[in-house]
Amino acid sequence: MRVTLLGPPGAGKGTHAVDLSREFGVPHISTGDIFREEMKSETELGKLARSYIDEGNLVPDDVTVDIVRGRLGKEDASAGFILDGFPRTIPQAEQLDGLLSGLGTALDTAIYLFAPEEVIIQRLSGRRVCRNCGAVFHVVNIPPRREGVCDRCGGELYRREDDAPEAIRQRMRQYESKTAGLVGYYESGGRLVRVDAGIARQETYRLLREIMAGLR
Ligand code: AMP
Repeated sequence: MRVTLLGPPGAGKGTHAVDLSREFGVPHISTGDIFREEMKSETELGKLARSYIDEGNLVPDDVTVDIVRGRLGKEDASAGFILDGFPRTIPQAEQLDGLLSGLGTALDTAIYLFAPEEVIIQRLSGRRVCRNCGAVFHVVNIPPRREGVCDRCGGELYRREDDAPEAIRQRMRQYESKTAGLVGYYESGGRLVRVDAGIARQETYRLLREIMAGLR
């Protein structure tokens, strides 16, 4: 079970990846989460990543691929994984293929979560994230029980720097120019599955679950 979730920011990759990881018992590997952890701990990598992320730009390929190489080499990823937000460029996808073939394996499927732009903007602009555990909420779609407080751990909810309106616009531009081409990359390799992420969250999840179950 080796899959990646593709799609624009706000399509729900992270939200669904968390649930799929729990249900199917394979690790959820999010490069965005790894960068945010590094930023929180103020490591050198975190400082470097922040200079790109807060502006809505992509972190350079070599830095990102190194992180994924290290993570996929860990024991818990040997039986499968759900990549979320990686690859985001064609060179990253090519390097991922090389990396996996070096490990004697391959990516099964790239799942493309698509949704209309207005849905995406609405989701990103209302998104709130727990500073402590990373759980994701939305002021309208998934409101926490108490405003500003995480249901799961009681941590403080905040709006990501890169969910500010100008950063959202820049992320959408980056997606169109650098990431959207991955759909063609995986389609030509016969590894693409499209899933509607503009419908109710539970419906999208039901479709994802069927795909994952078919890979078992
Ligand atoms: P995400 O949480 O997936 O939306 O990622 C947040 C930000 O981290 C992105 O907007 C990028 O700046 C950076 N990032 C995450 N994954 C990658 C990647 N595969 N390549 C380059 N930058 C990335």
